[in-house]
Amino acid sequence: MQFDVPEFSFSEDFLVSHLSGSVRISRTPQGLLFQGDFHGDTVQECVRCLDEYHQDIHTDFEELFAFTRNNVTDSGLLVPEDGQVDLAPLLREYLLLELPIKPLCQPDCKGLCVICGANLNTTVCEHAEAAASV
Ligand SMILES: [Zn+2]
Ligand SMILES: [Zn+2]
Repeated sequence: MQFDVPEFSFSEDFLVSHLSGSVRISRTPQGLLFQGDFHGDTVQECVRCLDEYHQDIHTDFEELFAFTRNNVTDSGLLVPEDGQVDLAPLLREYLLLELPIKPLCQPDCKGLCVICGANLNTTVCEHAEAAASV
């Protein structure tokens, strides 16, 4: 199964653009084995300069949806009674795990001036120059 979605909203505050990937489903005696590989990008706020930027995310996972409670794995996933597995909540969790704890718009983001709040990636304020000359 191939997926290619321009934009997918997992929840109000988690929107992924250019979401594409694939899922392989195999039937095993215990349940349905899902092997997925997805990538996309999402808007994050940089912890240093507070600017929004696009963060690439990629995940691959393997999860078994068990047919019965006896076969359930640590993740506790069961094939629903109607047989329709909803992958979105699972994919959401895997993608959220991929988000950086301290998102940075760029590895060497200069952040904001502590005095005037200017974004030092785009502007140079007098304070930055003063600090640099010390
Ligand atoms: Zn930044
Ligand atoms: Zn400043």
